Amino acid sequence: MGLEEKQRQFNAAMELYSTRSGYKRFGVLVSFANVSLQAWLVWCTMSLPIGIAGELTALLVAWLLADFVNGLVHLYMDHNDHYDSFCGPLIANFHLHHKLPRYGQKSLPVVYFIESGSKVWLVPCLALLAVAAEFFGLHPVLFHTLVYAGILSSVAEVSHYLCHNSISPAVVFLGNCRILLSKRHHAIHHMQDNVNYAFLNGVTDPVINLIAARFPRGYKQNTDLHYATYSGETGSHQ
Ligand SMILES: [Zn+2]
Ligand SMILES: [Zn+2]
Repeated sequence: MGLEEKQRQFNAAMELYSTRSGYKRFGVLVSFANVSLQAWLVWCTMSLPIGIAGELTALLVAWLLADFVNGLVHLYMDHNDHYDSFCGPLIANFHLHHKLPRYGQKSLPVVYFIESGSKVWLVPCLALLAVAAEFFGLHPVLFHTLVYAGILSSVAEVSHYLCHNSISPAVVFLGNCRILLSKRHHAIHHMQDNVNYAFLNGVTDPVINLIAARFPRGYKQNTDLHYATYSGETGSHQ
């Protein structure tokens, strides 16, 4: 399919996103489902204490797991150009982050809630985790790890927001320690092609970059060209 046809499909998808309120309402529903399930799962972990060493292990593994999984989803989404599908308007809106990297200024809890609405895949994962914990008796450390990874998947969105929107010394420090996403590390994703997809802390990017190398189309000469003729105001981070 030619570039002009993809650009036409992109613009049509964004037209749907801007005019059909159902897409934005769907995002709020996904946010609500994710945040409710996360709260429920944290409540469930409280009846399964695992001690300080267990908690630290679970947090550390979850920090890596969330960085890796969310980076892989980002890799998939940056290559996704199915604008004429049912999810096309959501896909097109996602790509606008490369056009306008800076977010509208919001408080962090609001960013956490709103950006959790783009994580459609997280809803079934959290729901399955709740079912598995209830009926299959997961090992408590594994359960804590997966619950934390689910929450850190939303924290990753906040980390990415801070990376683009904050110049606070605390944020810069946390980025330099690789606890959150460092500006220098993430800038490479926007300046170069097909690299540094992770956005919680970027620690797993060396592995994700190896996987990305198997999908050499990247985004600079691919999906980034599809919004070239889009002039609308609506963006992913409004
Ligand atoms: Zn990207
Ligand atoms: Zn970014």
